[in-house]
Amino acid sequence: MPHHVIIGAGPAGINAIETIRQFDRDSSITLVSDERPYTRMALPYFLANEIPEDHLSTASEAYFDNLRVDRRVGSRATRVDTTARVLHLDDGETLSFDTLLVATGSSATRPNIPGAEGKHVHNLWTLNDALAVMDSASTRKPTAVLIGSGFIGLIVLNALHRLGWKLSVVEMEGHVLPRMLDRRGAAAAEAWLRARGVGVYTGCTATVIDGARKKTVHLSDGQALRANVVILCTGIQPNLGFLDGSGVEVGDGIVVDAHMRTSVANLYAAGDVAQGPDLLGGPAAVHAIQATAVDHGRIAGANMAGQVRPYGGSLLMNILDIAGLHCASFGRWREDGDTTVIWNPARPVYRKLVWEGGRLVGGIIAGPVEDTTMLTDVGMLKGLIQSKADLSSWKRYVDQRPWDLRRVYVASGAAAKLMSQTTLGAASAVRGFRFQDRSPRTDPGPHHGALVGTRPPGFESLPRTPTPGIYKTPVESQATEETD
Ligand SMILES: Cc1cc2nc3c(=O)[nH]c(=O)nc-3n(C[C@H](O)[C@H](O)[C@H](O)COP(=O)(O)OP(=O)(O)OC[C@H]3O[C@@H](n4cnc5c(N)ncnc54)[C@H](O)[C@@H]3O)c2cc1C
Repeated sequence: MPHHVIIGAGPAGINAIETIRQFDRDSSITLVSDERPYTRMALPYFLANEIPEDHLSTASEAYFDNLRVDRRVGSRATRVDTTARVLHLDDGETLSFDTLLVATGSSATRPNIPGAEGKHVHNLWTLNDALAVMDSASTRKPTAVLIGSGFIGLIVLNALHRLGWKLSVVEMEGHVLPRMLDRRGAAAAEAWLRARGVGVYTGCTATVIDGARKKTVHLSDGQALRANVVILCTGIQPNLGFLDGSGVEVGDGIVVDAHMRTSVANLYAAGDVAQGPDLLGGPAAVHAIQATAVDHGRIAGANMAGQVRPYGGSLLMNILDIAGLHCASFGRWREDGDTTVIWNPARPVYRKLVWEGGRLVGGIIAGPVEDTTMLTDVGMLKGLIQSKADLSSWKRYVDQRPWDLRRVYVASGAAAKLMSQTTLGAASAVRGFRFQDRSPRTDPGPHHGALVGTRPPGFESLPRTPTPGIYKTPVESQATEETD
């Protein structure tokens, strides 16, 4: 029976294990992970005091027993001998393997700034980082300076804003979220943050962090910001040092093919550590997002279990709530060729849809969370891109009504196309783990109705408004619609 060894208990590693077992009940599986299994994605909710620590868990002893997984939790992989197929651990143990999955994710970087190693200066990538940030917040209304305004920086900022912290964010590039939003989307985010009392400092760098209990962050433009806590969100790098000398091809991450195979036989890689196929045909990329880690893990697991399952590629996507402003970007959002744009900085409303012929290949959406449009069609934009639906006959309609993707989504049959585009050719199985064996709530709560269509109280007495745009060919005016 083959022996599969998985390094890393994040979403890539866990999904690989579940998928191996889906196809192969008999092989042996060993998991090596220096951290216990938990979800990084939920750390902002933990930080914001919305969930207790144990809700972060993604697996239990019973879950692993049921999947018959041998565990080395708390151990680190230090070296791989790819010829002898042996993995070396930091406690001296060695594991022989038939297939090896590297799902070691990434680690947060520390900028080379004097004082960055000091007390009350933390990254926010791991559970320990989150605990350390909470520990440093010794006052009732703490102040924090975040260095770096990427996706992680602003998701952390959002959590601390909910707690009422006084916040500033420093970004060396010309605008916030430089890898998620263009200048217009970022302008909306910056104005929104400033209006809520958050200090936004762009186009400058932190040069020195000094002070013991109260920190001072000195900026390259001469300003100085005081804070109880400094949080470094300056980027991540893949965890692959233990592969030195193994001969595995590395680019921005471990280079993998559509089967998650590396350049070395029987060695696979998945998740943040892997540079894999792009759904829209772009160059292989490290997307470093949860959805890609899950897909990678499932594809790697199936192929390790002897199936031949190629991956269609992952879609770059980021969806963020910044203190009540929803921002999302997908795919080739940077491109400026054939686009449909709507922009009203006053609300703000911003949409940029990127076309390639009759297909949508990218987009940005930004606007207040209470905009119903935001709540209903962010996922549809993603689905229209993912399904690669031909929207040629709807393009004019979208150009005139970029806020209404719902009709296009339904009419183009995008949902049906997506249903058939499952990662492994079938709906995924229910996970074998639920926190404290709790089942999801099925009774709609008080907020449910307003969001998912059961009628909220007083609905019947609301004035009726005509539904705009029920025709594929846009009508000329609202008056015409009303008479219809
Ligand atoms: C605060 C925060 C919020 C996020 N929010 C989102 C979000 O909203 N949406 C989204 O898509 N993504 C989000 N992400 C990113 C997402 O969590 C990652 O993309 C995802 O966790 C990657 O999964 P992975 O399995 O590749 O790696 P990881 O989850 O990092 O798991 C890898 C594991 O391997 C272990 N490991 C590393 N090296 C070794 C070694 N040598 N030996 C043994 N074990 C090792 C690591 O310690 C870790 O436990 C967020 C991340 C953070 C930190």
